[in-house]
Amino acid sequence: MSDGPDICWFRRDLRVADQPALVGHDPAPTVSVFVVDPRPLATAGRRRRVLLTRHLLALDTRLRDAGGDLLVLEGDPVSVIPELAAELGAGTVRWNGDVSGYARRRDAAVRDRLTREGTEVQEHWGTLVQPPGSVVARSTGLVQRVFTPFSRAWEATDRTPWPEGPPSLVPATDGRGRRPDAVLGVDADDEGDLLPAGGELAAEQRLGAWLEVVDGYDSRRDLPADDTGTSRLSSDLRFGTLSPRHVLDVVGTATPGRAAFVRQLAWRDWYAHLLAERPELAHAAMKPGLDDVAWRDDPAGFQAWRTGRTGYPIVDAGMRQLAETGWMHNRVRMITASFLVKDLLIDWRLGEAHFRRELIDAEVSQNAGNWQWVAGTGPDAAPYFRIFNPVTQSRRFDPGGGYLRRWVPELRALDDRSIHAPWELGPLELAAAGVHLGDEYPWPIVDHAEARERTLAAYGAAAAR
Ligand SMILES: Cc1cc2nc3c(=O)[nH]c(=O)nc-3n(C[C@H](O)[C@H](O)[C@H](O)COP(=O)(O)OP(=O)(O)OC[C@H]3O[C@@H](n4cnc5c(N)ncnc54)[C@H](O)[C@@H]3O)c2cc1C
Repeated sequence: MSDGPDICWFRRDLRVADQPALVGHDPAPTVSVFVVDPRPLATAGRRRRVLLTRHLLALDTRLRDAGGDLLVLEGDPVSVIPELAAELGAGTVRWNGDVSGYARRRDAAVRDRLTREGTEVQEHWGTLVQPPGSVVARSTGLVQRVFTPFSRAWEATDRTPWPEGPPSLVPATDGRGRRPDAVLGVDADDEGDLLPAGGELAAEQRLGAWLEVVDGYDSRRDLPADDTGTSRLSSDLRFGTLSPRHVLDVVGTATPGRAAFVRQLAWRDWYAHLLAERPELAHAAMKPGLDDVAWRDDPAGFQAWRTGRTGYPIVDAGMRQLAETGWMHNRVRMITASFLVKDLLIDWRLGEAHFRRELIDAEVSQNAGNWQWVAGTGPDAAPYFRIFNPVTQSRRFDPGGGYLRRWVPELRALDDRSIHAPWELGPLELAAAGVHLGDEYPWPIVDHAEARERTLAAYGAAAAR
């Protein structure tokens, strides 16, 4: 028996409230640690680092208020965690599980080493509503490949209780660890209000604000011009500054808006469960054949997409919103992703990697799952032959052009119909609105109708092989 403290290893669960790994089963006094692991960090853009820094500083404050503190270490967790456990004589190390292939290999290696050295491991699942493997089809024992039956089973599945009660915390930083901003090489104040305020108390306030308007979610969620049409809680769920069960419980399903919102939390669990079962979903098509689409090598097209210079205003607006804020509205994520894959015929994996770097809510499971959905290669995906028309989508979901005017100011003076497709206007009308195509705003880099035919042929050939 060890007489040292337990260790709570924080990862994507940066909160004290409703945090099963912090409380644990039969816990001893607990020290809290976060390990900055350079490998996953290398795929994170600067905004995600700044946000992580903010959350870590706020978590440290919360833990100090409760008698502990946050030890921030740097290196490969496979050696850092067992070394810390040995130094402290820890009896148990607790964490919340994660589903990416990298995280699962890392956790297996940490577990293996700790167990060999006589330290117990407790894995909880405080980052999802239901743990992976708990919602499966009775006939196969596997995660459902279609969302609706999954979501029905997800709703009907009893929740495994999480350990409850105030955590028993002790400090651990005495002479150890570094400040998160020093390790992450960023300033927590960078980006000001463009990024959410750090920590679970700020996240709780965001949730409170969302509760004021959630009843309108079902009618407003697809309108990117509406800043309060969706919750923008995705980065809090990603960093775990909010518990997904807590979010679900306070929102409930009493109105159609609330029920529609909870359904999105089921999508989140579904993609995580699928990735946990099939780690290759992060990079391989789930549909046979569709890994062999003859993608185009088009660095100039990719660059135009990435920088918001495709000549399709809705695509450019979305990519500029991403570049400037680290977040993009879901409807526009679908349109921009579809444009890359189906109009430019560029491999979805390149777009997935770009989003994964830039989004403040980026998670492999959610990002790859949604990219595969758009590309038509994943489970329950849109069939590949259904191709979004960016102009029709734009007119339908931004009818007043408010979103376009915010992000593509070059076109601000165009009327509500033309702003979605400026090339449809004649030179005189364009000049009257002060728009010079090919000058400050580009001509479309591709003709949608032609691109559609090219994509249908390429996918059709791959599917037939
Ligand atoms: C190409 C593409 C890439 C995406 N990459 C990510 C990603 O890396 N991380 C991420 O969290 N979401 C991703 N999404 C899903 C979705 O766009 C975001 O979760 C959503 O826009 C976040 O905004 P919100 O919090 O206001 O969402 P809300 O509409 O308020 O939804 C509430 C919560 O439900 C979950 N959710 C909503 N839509 C989806 C969805 N389609 N799939 C899974 N969960 C969902 C999110 O956790 C979200 O915070 C992606 C979607 C697309 C089309």
